[in-house]
Amino acid sequence: MKITRVKSHILQYELDRELGYSQQFYSRRSAHLVEVQTDEGLTGWGECFGPGNVAIANRTIVEEVIQPMILGCDPVDRDAIWHNVYNLLRDHGQKGMPIQALSGVDIALWDLTGKIAGLPLCKLAGGRHRDRVPVYGYGMMLGREDIDAHVSRFRDEAAGIKEAGFVATKMKVGLGHRNDIRLIEAVRSGIGEEFPFMVDANHCYTVADAFYVGQALDEMNAYWFEEPVAPEDLDGYGELRTRLKTNISGGEAEFTRWGWRHLLEGRCLDIAQPEVCALGGISEYLKVLALAHTHFTPVVNHVWGSAVAVAANLHLLAAMPPVPGGLNPREPMLEFDTTDNLFRDDLLVEPMDIPAQVRRSGGYASVPEGPGLGVEPDPGFIERYSVT
Ligand code: CA
Repeated sequence: MKITRVKSHILQYELDRELGYSQQFYSRRSAHLVEVQTDEGLTGWGECFGPGNVAIANRTIVEEVIQPMILGCDPVDRDAIWHNVYNLLRDHGQKGMPIQALSGVDIALWDLTGKIAGLPLCKLAGGRHRDRVPVYGYGMMLGREDIDAHVSRFRDEAAGIKEAGFVATKMKVGLGHRNDIRLIEAVRSGIGEEFPFMVDANHCYTVADAFYVGQALDEMNAYWFEEPVAPEDLDGYGELRTRLKTNISGGEAEFTRWGWRHLLEGRCLDIAQPEVCALGGISEYLKVLALAHTHFTPVVNHVWGSAVAVAANLHLLAAMPPVPGGLNPREPMLEFDTTDNLFRDDLLVEPMDIPAQVRRSGGYASVPEGPGLGVEPDPGFIERYSVT
């Protein structure tokens, strides 16, 4: 079988409500799907991390840079293809957009390989360690309202996510370290004393401010403190990890085994959050996972994007061995964005409807059946939301 075409589909729509995190507000939802076609009619789907104009630029890398390198290759040869492409891109970017672009292509090759073999991705990745995956719901995005309005909205949203059946919840911070503590208290009061919650700073703090907020998280028994400081500040990560009781997590902005090596060898993280649609795709994710587990660092995947990304992650989370193992190990969780996202809810011919699964099962999602990712995007939907 030969690869005959590599095509990007950039989907966009305007959100009813603007959403914010510590770095910016956004009012447009986007997704970057990659379709790899073959001479035998089989098609594989992948997804690249990177919203808005980043997706537009990544499309050029996918179609104009990577496609000519892999036309005519056998899609099953995904590790060989990965290394050929990486070797040619290396001099032009070992992190960031070239690797995001490669990620979507690699995921599509795994989808194709599964379809050729008649095996779901979780089997190709080594088999299931669990039949269903616990799901945490994130929400509590920043808005433009004042701090008092934020406090009451965060309390209500957190209570709603708990009520919806998710096993844990995650909030944003970024209104300044003092106001952020009010937000965190609001979420804790909305969910009660026992329900697990996590806090995502999207690297907005100095180490000193992160320590100030982190002490409050220690008192409020938060599960993890995500991207407290800039991803380049590995020493800052290490200091916080030593000084705080709360788990320090991060890694969504790190790429390839060579980038992850420094985070892991530096003992920077209690919980690693690799993003498969950014760090190099499934081929590279499996290497990063092995490296994380080599350092006995638990992994909870970062998940963002459309139903394609969610499906890929469900397979990978099902196939993830427990670390260090035992009768009652801590389970990895699926990150699920509870805010408005048509590309997650309505993209597929047969939607996964994870909120309904969570409601029915008390917090779990099942792994899609069928070969490859086990999901099929609806061509009519893609056409409707595609930008050219
Ligand atoms: Ca995050």
